[in-house]
Parts: sequence; C-alpha cells; structure tokens
Amino acid sequence: MNPDPGGALAQYRRRRDFSRTPEPKGGRVAAGPDGTPSFVVQIHDATAMHFDFRLEVDGVLKSWAVPKGPSADPHDKRLAMPTEDHPLEYRDFEGVIAPGEYGAGTVIVWDEGTYRNLTADRAGREVPFGEALDHGHASFRLDGHKLHGGYSLTRIRGGQGGGREVWLLVKHADGHARAGSTTDPRRARSAHSGHTLRQVAAESAAGNSP
Ligand code: MN
Repeated sequence: MNPDPGGALAQYRRRRDFSRTPEPKGGRVAAGPDGTPSFVVQIHDATAMHFDFRLEVDGVLKSWAVPKGPSADPHDKRLAMPTEDHPLEYRDFEGVIAPGEYGAGTVIVWDEGTYRNLTADRAGREVPFGEALDHGHASFRLDGHKLHGGYSLTRIRGGQGGGREVWLLVKHADGHARAGSTTDPRRARSAHSGHTLRQVAAESAAGNSP
C-alpha cells in the first residue's frame, strides 16, 4: 500500500525499488515533541561525491544536493541543486545503496539537529517556511552538532516552469561564522556512528549494515 498516493513522495518512490535498496519507503512520522522541525546533512559517495542538505517542511524532507557541502564562511556561495522530497525517516539513513540502484553509493549522516525559520517579510512578520521556499528565498538558524547559526537558501535560476532550478546555500555573518571552512567528505565522520564513509561501506560489505 502506498500511504501517500500521488503525494509529495511519489517521485521518491518511483525512483526506487524497495526490495533492492535499504532506504526507507517512508510512512507517516509524527513531528518532534515540541514541533521543532529537523534538518539533516548526509554525505553521499555516489557517481559524484556530494552532500545532501535536507530540511523538514510540512511532513517531508525538502532536499538539495550540495556538491561542496555547507560552509561556515559567509563568503562561500555553495551551489545547491534541488532533489525530490524525501521521507522524514531518511534523516536516520546511513548505509550502502547497491550498484545499479538509484543513487548507488555509501551514505553517512554528517550532521543533524533542528532549525528555526528566520524568514520575514518587509513588515518583519514571519513567512511560513514552505511559502518562503516557493518564493525562492528562506532564512533559518541551524542547531546541529557541526552546523550552527543562520543560513539562507536562495533560488538563482529556474522555477515557475523555467527549467532546472539552481539555489545557493550561504552562511549568515553571525557569531557562528568562520573563515575558510571546508569539509573533506572522505575524512568526515558520521554524527550517528562516528564512522567514515569507508568504514560504513566496509561494515555493509561484512553484513553488519546499521
Ligand atoms: Mn544524494
């Protein structure tokens, strides 16, 4: 049974064979106890290494592939390419997607936590987060293990039927900003297990998938 026929996760499910991938199919997951939305950043050693930046919005994880990953330096404008909405359960996914399957490669949870919407209109009123993304600009404060403080996502190309969307993920110049911050994905450690991509791949090959 598809618990969400034709819904936000239709594209996610269409691309995957759940008898062959360890990724979650996704059902209904309750929001956090205080309703604070979550975020997760995964490292995905796929055809091209990239980070997947995901924010919980209206019951799903809105997702962007960020080739170089988030930066704590406000001067870095990181390209962020939207990908299909993912189920909330994906925030815990770490493991290996088999060769030949969509997104084949190893995934680790690099950072996770909660965020707060900082997007306001000209009168200073908060703009609902989903609406802000529809309009192509959202600001938020991350409270993770590695990522902290304000960030913005801004659409710079596409949208409204205008082809492939391109966004930028940029750190706000606040007390959490740091110059010259870059993460080497091959040395980075999981916020879940403390393991690297290589260790997670080795565990999976040994049949000890988490
Ligand atoms: Mn990915």
